[in-house]
Amino acid sequence: MSKVKHIPTNEVHRLKDSKTTCCGFKITENPECWVQVGDNSTVTCEKNGCK
Ligand SMILES: [Zn+2]
Repeated sequence: MSKVKHIPTNEVHRLKDSKTTCCGFKITENPECWVQVGDNSTVTCEKNGCK
């Protein structure tokens, strides 16, 4: 499963699909704040779905 990092908070989230994280962030609203990270990165988001 793909993972993305939220640059302002440095938090790594799981991607549900190409537009949304598993905890419900729409990454298309602020694409400049998100960067794809490798599958071996540790998810640091504590919200339901990502954890
Ligand atoms: Zn998350």
